[in-house]
Amino acid sequence: MRDNVSPLAEQQRRHLAWMQRALAQARLAIERGEAPIGCVLYRDDGTMIAEAHNTMMSSGIVTAHAEMNAFAAAGRGIAPGVRVIMVSTLEPCVMCTGAAMQAGVVKIVYALPAPADAGTGRVRPPESPGSTAPDIVGRVGADDSRALFEQWLTLHAGDESRRDQREFVEQLLALTDNDDRVGPLAQKSSPSG
Ligand SMILES: [Zn+2]
Repeated sequence: MRDNVSPLAEQQRRHLAWMQRALAQARLAIERGEAPIGCVLYRDDGTMIAEAHNTMMSSGIVTAHAEMNAFAAAGRGIAPGVRVIMVSTLEPCVMCTGAAMQAGVVKIVYALPAPADAGTGRVRPPESPGSTAPDIVGRVGADDSRALFEQWLTLHAGDESRRDQREFVEQLLALTDNDDRVGPLAQKSSPSG
């Protein structure tokens, strides 16, 4: 049958659909003067639990990453036994990957890899009861996410108050590409000179 969709193709379609919502949060973040990073938490049946974007600029809170904000917004939406999937437009940092494991996230789906930070590769899952080792799926909608960082950089060119963020984004763009040239993070070394 022509419309016979393989389970893998169906999963990829779901991941992409979920990522669209995270990308919408990232666009909202740009409009609000924040870094273009969005995160959506889903149940594994596809029900949305919470969505958020980075609010470090407006809140002044250095840990106000999109993922942390999404967990805060989820509140009791994340209960024991709920299988949570975390969808982020940028590979989560060490803090957010750790938070995902703490929260029992079963799968992390991200768009653009963050080779210099590589949070998903640097955090080892806990071994305490109830903790999880989430599946990691990267490069889902990576080009769309990368385009938002390019847009952000253009928007804030020459803004000295954003120097740290600009350096982060410039490095991110230098280490990633528009095509699939960047391989799995396991094969990606730290930035070479
Ligand atoms: Zn983070």
